[in-house]
Amino acid sequence: MQLHGKVALVTGAASGIGKEIASTLAASGAAVAIADINLQAAQAAAEELKIKGCQAMALDFDVTDEAAVEQGTQLVVNTLGSVDILVSNAGIQIVSPIDQFAYADWRKVLSIHLDGAFLTTKAALRHMYRNDRGGIVIYTGSVHSHEASPLKSAYVAAKHGLLGLAKVLAKEGAPHNVRSHVVCPGFVRTPLVEKQIPEQARELGISEEEVIKKVMLGQTVDGEFTTLQDVAQTVLFLATFPTAAFTGQSFVVSHGWHMQ
Ligand code: NAD
Repeated sequence: MQLHGKVALVTGAASGIGKEIASTLAASGAAVAIADINLQAAQAAAEELKIKGCQAMALDFDVTDEAAVEQGTQLVVNTLGSVDILVSNAGIQIVSPIDQFAYADWRKVLSIHLDGAFLTTKAALRHMYRNDRGGIVIYTGSVHSHEASPLKSAYVAAKHGLLGLAKVLAKEGAPHNVRSHVVCPGFVRTPLVEKQIPEQARELGISEEEVIKKVMLGQTVDGEFTTLQDVAQTVLFLATFPTAAFTGQSFVVSHGWHMQ
């Protein structure tokens, strides 16, 4: 129960990686806010945690809506007492070659990943900076924070951008006891990835099996997907680390796909 007495706000926590992170932090004693644009799924995820004896609340939260982010974060503080850990995780994927990439889609990807990270960070810092009480901000980056893949221009640009935001936050936040990290998973079998398999097969003119074996796992050392637990345990490690030794850095969790 290393996180007993701490409050974690996790965005995109109604599904996939965010859901597992919220559950892992809750199992370690944190009270968690499940913030997601899909309120029904967020409520179901919060109920699952409450049944296990954890403290959890669901939040109707679009990370690109400044007012919703401000109000939602304040509601977490009012209800659970603070925000000690922010996991900015909400994300989407849209694949297309650059020359055919719709501007609206480019902006949508950039907005959810980058505007969302900025707005949630800004709202959380208002509480973390008070009396320099401090906190930990963890961004879900990706191997695509370091590598490129065809068809993913907006996603790769957004995920690289998170590294910059995290580095600035490490410097600005340090006097207030705030630190930042980027956790960078390889492919994890979530709804976001399931959707890409047929899309990439179509775009690249190969079979779905080849997309998995060659495109997604071809460069890992063991041909394995990164698991939800691989990612959540890394977040837990960072959320419980006692000093600012790692601030501003990224942690690649990818079964050897990308080695820093
Ligand atoms: P997912 O689709 O399972 O979950 C994403 C969640 O984000 C959903 O619950 C969705 O409702 C929510 N969401 C979408 N737009 C939102 C918005 N505007 N405001 C609030 N919530 C919103 O996807 P996932 O695979 O768990 O992805 C989570 C994060 O992990 C993303 O940032 C993604 O880029 C990153 N990531 C995923 C993988 C992977 O292989 N799955 C690899 C590296 C990084």
